Amino acid sequence: MIYEGRNFVGGVWLESDTVPYVDTHNPATGEITGSIPCSSQAEVTHAIAAAFAASRNWRSVSRVQRADYFDKLAQLLKRDHDQLVATIVLETGKNPNEAHAEVIEALHMCQVAFGSGRTPYGEVIASELSTKDAQVFRKPKGVVAVIAPWNFPLAIGSFWASAPALVEGNTVVHKPSELTPMIAEQVAKLYEEAGFPPGVYNLIHGDGRTGQHLVEGDVDCILFTGSAEVGKSIRQHCASTWHKTCSCELGSKSAVITFEDGNLDLALDVSIASAFKLSGQRCVSSGRMLIERPIYDRFCEAFAARAGELKTGDMRSEQGCFYGPLISPEAVAKVEFYNQLVRQDARRNHDVEILLNGGPVDRQGNFMTPFVYACQWGDKKYLKEEVFGPHVALIPFEDVDQAIDIYNDTPYGLALGVVTDDFRKMRRCQRECNTGMLYLNGGSIAAESHLPFGGIGKSGNGYKSAAGTYRAVTEEIAVTTNYEEGKVTWAQGMK
Ligand code: NAD
Repeated sequence: MIYEGRNFVGGVWLESDTVPYVDTHNPATGEITGSIPCSSQAEVTHAIAAAFAASRNWRSVSRVQRADYFDKLAQLLKRDHDQLVATIVLETGKNPNEAHAEVIEALHMCQVAFGSGRTPYGEVIASELSTKDAQVFRKPKGVVAVIAPWNFPLAIGSFWASAPALVEGNTVVHKPSELTPMIAEQVAKLYEEAGFPPGVYNLIHGDGRTGQHLVEGDVDCILFTGSAEVGKSIRQHCASTWHKTCSCELGSKSAVITFEDGNLDLALDVSIASAFKLSGQRCVSSGRMLIERPIYDRFCEAFAARAGELKTGDMRSEQGCFYGPLISPEAVAKVEFYNQLVRQDARRNHDVEILLNGGPVDRQGNFMTPFVYACQWGDKKYLKEEVFGPHVALIPFEDVDQAIDIYNDTPYGLALGVVTDDFRKMRRCQRECNTGMLYLNGGSIAAESHLPFGGIGKSGNGYKSAAGTYRAVTEEIAVTTNYEEGKVTWAQGMK
C-alpha cells in the first residue's frame, strides 16, 4: 500500500489536499513509497495554535503525571519494536541491527523521561541573609518546535527532543524529515495511544519550506538537528527576535586518533565502525583517521583491507551487508564530488594516495563502496568539510601535540575516539581537543540517552540534546523569599 502522510494536530489526524505533495522513496530501490503534504504556512500556524492552546493545561499537570505518560509510551515501543525497526530499515536503508539500537535508544529516552518526573527540577541555594530563602527553579519555555533530520528518524525528533520538552511542561510541534516521515507518523500514533492530551504533541509534515514556516512561527524554542547551514539560518533568525531560543545540533568532521601504544585490533574495529556504520551518514561519523607515524603503514594496509571486504546492499533482501544505501541520489552526488576532488589531487600530488577507489555502484538504489585514501594533513576541502558518506582519509601524525592540532583544525567539534593506553595522552586529548563528546578507547559513534549529546563550534551552539535537552527547553528562574515581618533587609548591606 502506498503511504499518504497526514498531520496530527490538536489530537486530530488531518488530510491535506490543498498543498503540494512530496514523494518519499525507498533508498535501496529508488521506488516511490508514498507522499507527504508539504504543509503550508497556514497549516503550520494552525499546529502552533493547537500547541499553544494545550499549553496552559499541560503545564498545570503535575510533573510526575506528565512523566508518567512516558511509562505507557515505553510499553508501546516495546510492543511495536519489530514494526518500528522494519519502518526505519525501509525508510533509511540502515542495517536492522542499527535500527534495533535506535528503537532501544528511544526506549531509553522514554525511561529517562519517566524517571525524571521524580527528580529535582531546580536547586535550593543559600541567600546571604538568614531571613531569606533562595532557589533556582526551571520552568517551561512554552511551545517548542522540533525539526529533525532523516538519519535517526525515530530517536532524535520523537524522543531525544520531544520527551524532555514535554516532561518539563512544554507543548511540541514536531516536523520530521521529508525523507523519513512514516516512522514519525507511526510514533505520533503511539503518543496518541499513550493518552497525551490533544494538542500537547503535534506532528506536521513537509520539507525545508515547512521547517522555515515553523521557525518563523510563534514558537518559543526551536530544537533543530540537521545540517550546519540550516542551523546557522535558524540561529540568525532567533537572534533577530527577543524571546526565541534554539538548540542546534549540527554536522561534524569527527575523527579517531590512534596512538602507537594503543591496541591495534581495537583501533581497527572502532575505526571501521566509526567510518562506515550507516554508510558514514551519522553526524559523528569519522571521515578522518589520525594515526601515529610508527604504525601508520600497518594501519593503512589493514584498514583498507577490512574496508574493501565490507559488503553494501539492500538490508531487506540481501544477507551479510555491513551498510546499506545512501539516503538519496543527491547524497551520492555529494560524496562523489568529494571523491573526485581527492582523485584530482592524487593525480598530481604525492601526498595523496588512493587505497580504495570506491564510488557509486552500478545498480538500482543509492549504493556506494568505500573510498579510502592516505593523505598528509593540509588545507583541503575534503579534509575539512563534512562528506557524510563512505569517504575516509588516513592521516599520519608525529606526536600528541600534532594529533591535537590536526583534530582541532576544522570549524567542527562533535565527536572524537582516542585509542591509547597512555593516561597522559588521554588527559591531553580530553583537555585540549575541541569536541563535545570524547570516547577513550572507543569509536566516535556511541550515544546514550541519559548523557548530553552535542558538539561545539560549527557542530552545535551549546544546548545539547538527549539528556541535555532539559536545559534547552526551560528557563532558570531565581526566586528569593523574604520572611521578615513588615520589612526587608537588602543584600550586600544596601540600605
Ligand atoms: P537537513 O539540514 O537537510 O534537514 C534537517 C531538517 O531541517 C529536515 O527536517 C528539513 O526538512 C529541515 N529543513 C531544511 N531546510 C530548512 C530551513 N531552511 N528551515 C527549517 N528547517 C529546514 O539535514 P539532514 O540531511 O536531514 O540530516 C543530515 C545532517 O544532520 C548532517 O549534517 C548530520 O551531521 C546532521 N545531524 C546532526 C546530529 C547531531 O546531533 N549533531 C544528529 C543527526 C544528524
